[in-house]
Amino acid sequence: MNNKKHYNNEKNIKFIADSMLGNIARKLRLFGFDVLYYKKGDDEGLLRNFEDRILLTCDKELYKRCFSLGRKAIFVERSENELYSLSYIFKLLKIKPILKAIRCTVCNGKLRKMDKDEINKNRNIPQNTKSKYKEFYICTNCGKVYWFGSHWKSIIKFNEDLKNTFN
Ligand SMILES: [Zn+2]
Repeated sequence: MNNKKHYNNEKNIKFIADSMLGNIARKLRLFGFDVLYYKKGDDEGLLRNFEDRILLTCDKELYKRCFSLGRKAIFVERSENELYSLSYIFKLLKIKPILKAIRCTVCNGKLRKMDKDEINKNRNIPQNTKSKYKEFYICTNCGKVYWFGSHWKSIIKFNEDLKNTFN
């Protein structure tokens, strides 16, 4: 990777992920990063566009092509271990893992906080969930609703494990 200084401001970091790296893309979105997918086979389109994004790929040939064109790219070893892959990417870019509920993990849309009235009217949130939790976020693109339910505990655990890989 060149120009490491460029990445000090985490807000500038945007990714485009290989379709084989869907789990990594979703995890990165939990940390607030803007991550697009590109369809496998559309390598030419990828090489012509998205120059402002760092390519994450497990395709060594594509990685080499990107790199030779001066594009920012990270070769991610295809592994079942998401923790290892995330840790590798974060260390390389000198990013500290901080969870941020600002991106939809499904579609990469931006999240915004819902107000009380909106929560009450929303039919996708179960009634008992509405009474149990106070904070809800909705994806401005696909409408998926998020809250800090039991699933969030496993995300916090993942974040802790990730932080521990920096020690
Ligand atoms: Zn969405």
